[in-house]
Amino acid sequence: MENRVYFIGAGPGDPELITVKGQRLLYEADLVIYTGSLVPKPLVADLNAEVINSAGLNLDEVFNLVLTNWQQGKKVVRLHTGDPAIYGAINEQITLFRQHNIPFTVIPGVSSANAAAAALETQLTLPEVSQTVIFTRCAGRTPVPEKESIISLASHRATMMIFLSVNMIDSLVNDLVAGGYSQDTPIAVVEKASWPEERQVRGTLANIAKQIREAGITRTAMIAVGDVLAEGTPPALSKLYNKEFSHGYRKGTTMP
Ligand code: SAH
Repeated sequence: MENRVYFIGAGPGDPELITVKGQRLLYEADLVIYTGSLVPKPLVADLNAEVINSAGLNLDEVFNLVLTNWQQGKKVVRLHTGDPAIYGAINEQITLFRQHNIPFTVIPGVSSANAAAAALETQLTLPEVSQTVIFTRCAGRTPVPEKESIISLASHRATMMIFLSVNMIDSLVNDLVAGGYSQDTPIAVVEKASWPEERQVRGTLANIAKQIREAGITRTAMIAVGDVLAEGTPPALSKLYNKEFSHGYRKGTTMP
């Protein structure tokens, strides 16, 4: 069978949150190159493979490792934190793989955005509250296109999951309010979602920045914003479960 290189999503931290397929391919691998500190160590312990942390390597060095091992017929895995498609820097690798005709497959993973929502026991989309989730980040060393500034995205007052930004919580909150969220909009920060040391802080846009400073949370945190986080009964129950609403699998008591 054709020898493919696999990009695998490692999940957010809990080693059991990798897919069954991802785990099987890890066990079968000869070489596993994982990205930095956020990939859960138990996932790369006890493998038959040679395991390399790519934190100290540049793109060319990583690619040369992949290329030489693949040419020798070795099974190579690139293990990325969360889901590889989100802030995962797989694109530049894929470009090189295509140039060299290396076949590859991407195996999705559980993003930290999903893990944070689970930790918060929150539904990110609620009827009549928000039907949209925006995954974004503040501009840092990596710029964000002007059309996607926090201020402009905030004007939708949808649910937002904000990566890579907890160290900028003060300016983030200012921009969210400047963009249109009210001061009493709920916001939550989940540090190291799904890790044993997970911490959560809940508040409003008016008070979250102070709480985060006091908690000393500066990295590896997901920021969730929006009225879906409000406590209490949502204004509208999901129509799917409303007894008066018929759909393909169930007949309602009255027609919608
Ligand atoms: N591909 C990853 C994101 C990598 S960018 C994913 O899908 O989750 C790194 C950022 O992701 C961190 O700055 C933080 O905002 C977030 N992050 C990663 N793991 C996290 C975790 N366990 N809990 C909360 N946020 C996390």
